[in-house]
Amino acid sequence: MLKAQETVLEIDLKALKHNFDHLKSKLESNTKFLAVVKAYGYGSDACEIARYLEGLDVDYFAVAYVNEGIKLRKAGIRKPILVLHPQAANFDKLVAHCLEPSLYNAKILNEFIEIATAENQSNYPIHIKFNTGLNRLGFSKNDINYIASKLKGSKAVKVKSIFSHLAASEDLTEKNFTLNQIDSFKNISSNMIESIGYKPILHICNTSGLLNYPDAHLDMVRSGIGLYGFGNSKKENQYLKPIATLKTIISQIHSIEKGESVGYNRGFKSDTFLKTATLPIGHADGIGRQYGNGKGFVTIDGKKAPIIGNVCMDMIMVNITNIDCKEGDEVIVFNNNITAENLAESANTISYEILTAISQRIKRSFLK
Ligand SMILES: *Cc1c(COP(=O)(O)O)cnc(C)c1O
Repeated sequence: MLKAQETVLEIDLKALKHNFDHLKSKLESNTKFLAVVKAYGYGSDACEIARYLEGLDVDYFAVAYVNEGIKLRKAGIRKPILVLHPQAANFDKLVAHCLEPSLYNAKILNEFIEIATAENQSNYPIHIKFNTGLNRLGFSKNDINYIASKLKGSKAVKVKSIFSHLAASEDLTEKNFTLNQIDSFKNISSNMIESIGYKPILHICNTSGLLNYPDAHLDMVRSGIGLYGFGNSKKENQYLKPIATLKTIISQIHSIEKGESVGYNRGFKSDTFLKTATLPIGHADGIGRQYGNGKGFVTIDGKKAPIIGNVCMDMIMVNITNIDCKEGDEVIVFNNNITAENLAESANTISYEILTAISQRIKRSFLK
């Protein structure tokens, strides 16, 4: 690895392959793998990640919104792409780019059938989402007859999959709740199959579902965070490799005398002599203000340097009093040793949030 000369997010595609192989090894050979690449591939780079995974044994991709799917198509991705949360306003673009909508209530189902019919589609692949306890998106089990009658009235669409989403698959204290969701999904899907007269792909597991509920893999699993190297538990993290390393450099070093302050609003006031380093990364880059004032930290020469004072838009200042370093030296914000999850925990949040917050102005580089 080259020494950083500016702030850079390095993406290790070998680690991505390692994670994919590990997750695949948990599945029966006929279980399909859907790779979730929403939110810029969890903050990395959706197109590079999807291109790489398309060369492996991935069956499906998912994004949250239509514009994310269009970017993948423009990057040459050919495999099917499920759009988890499409809006009717973009349905014409969705169809034009062969993206497949998740439909979760009567309103959006009808809106989609209308568009697909107007565009003379036949058997356009759709995915029917059921709510089994997350209470976010999804039809209820009482809607099955309604959905079936709508589908019987239209040749424009065909159900490619039926799915649901687990609310607490990473939390083993909620095992009963999760088993209940799985059970309820199995009932719903067998009723749906009976009502529509054919069997679509069934899926309910995200990464933690895949790892913790092997009996619920069904026909396909949907994995996001696991591909990026996090398993939502210490045990599972051992087998995965974080693919992203966020590095920066020291722009300037200051000696702070007793009584001086550091940063906006004099967020830090020193009662002793200390040394600070100013780094070219701030809240506009994804290091939120909640990491300021001693909560978050970076690593320089293998030693922890806490963020001092308030996080600025484009910079942070860190305490380097006991670290032997100079201007231009490399700084690790997170890597596969001090992970994004470790940094996230310092501010009471989760790997998902810090990863997806890494802004687009940070350069990406790829280790192949
Ligand atoms: C984001 C998302 C996933 C992926 O979840 P991970 O925990 O990252 O594996 C799967 N399914 C749905 C519906 C999602 O929104």
